[in-house]
Amino acid sequence: MTQLASGTGRETEGATVSRELGRMQGALAGPTLVVVAGIHGNERAGTVAARRVLSRLAREPDAVRGEFLALVGNLAALRMGRRYQSKDLNRVWSEASVAALQARSEHGTDDPEDAEQRALLGCFDAALGRARGEVFLADLHTTSAAGTPFVLFGDTPRQRAFAFRFPLPAVIGLEEQVDGTLSEYLTRRGCITVAVEGGQHDDPGSVDSLEAVLWIALSHAGNIEPARFEAELEAANALLGSRRGSLPRVLEVVERHAIRAEDAFRMEPGFSNLDRVRGGQLLARDARGEIRAPRDGMVILPLYQGQGSDGFFWGREVGPLRMRASATLRALRLERFLPYLPGVKREGAHPDRLRVDVRVARYYPLDVFHLFGYRRIRQDGAVLTVVRQPA
Ligand SMILES: [Zn+2]
Repeated sequence: MTQLASGTGRETEGATVSRELGRMQGALAGPTLVVVAGIHGNERAGTVAARRVLSRLAREPDAVRGEFLALVGNLAALRMGRRYQSKDLNRVWSEASVAALQARSEHGTDDPEDAEQRALLGCFDAALGRARGEVFLADLHTTSAAGTPFVLFGDTPRQRAFAFRFPLPAVIGLEEQVDGTLSEYLTRRGCITVAVEGGQHDDPGSVDSLEAVLWIALSHAGNIEPARFEAELEAANALLGSRRGSLPRVLEVVERHAIRAEDAFRMEPGFSNLDRVRGGQLLARDARGEIRAPRDGMVILPLYQGQGSDGFFWGREVGPLRMRASATLRALRLERFLPYLPGVKREGAHPDRLRVDVRVARYYPLDVFHLFGYRRIRQDGAVLTVVRQPA
């Protein structure tokens, strides 16, 4: 194994952070695990967790297969301790945005996040070029609200298998609600991705949770021999299992409460980042008045910081029976027949995007589409668009 770079600062320091926190290449070929920490510059915990794991791996030079690469997402914003400077670096990865950035050779017009994105694209291109096996991504975040860590993933079978390795709540469908996330971009490039919310921004426990996530990710990807890191893996599973407590294992996002500055949105205090609520409960207030829970369900990622356009997400628990049914249906590839249902047709050339006329299709619920990994992305009058990540 060669350790090509490494963070040098003590873990409490921030000033010494560079784009590449560390890169380790095993003598044996194997998968690649890319970790991105701090794509939101106010989320430092992931960088500390990645450096802890790098320094532990450095003591076991022959125990790494393939490559482990840890990157900082928004480097300049991280140095300032701000979420971003001109725009959210985790909303700029749609096909169109990336193509537009690459077509603009004039770097003089770049805003700070354009420059960050160019640098990251260079790192991803190089890592994918070096890869001799499957490429995994763990995108590490923290939240403004306190609460249990959880995993987010686009619902493809390979990503499901990765996400379910962590003994944390796994949230399906959040990625589809927001455009241009990094994990969605790398999924399109053939990687197996998850994003992880590790806990509250400045809670030292968030570093411990994200470190635990990295050990389990290294083991699942096949970068480390589990027997060589038995103590780390056992501790990681125990810690995350205890953090989950009584929260459900699988949740799905049903809708996003989008906000604009003029809405004067204020979340009611006291919600954690995954929280059970009762129908009728007061969730937030805005310029139009009170926002109450339409029924029993879950509030996901309530907004308690100034910057952001997601007030909260609304979700519900998914039982094990539905998960098994879904896995079976998808293994049989029965989604091929969805466009033959009355009121359903493919949208243009996109095989993973369907348009549903809800006046015709009202006899079968949206759940049918959820089972196949489709999520609602928008509704224009009677026409509902559902989309899923390509398998
Ligand atoms: Zn974040």
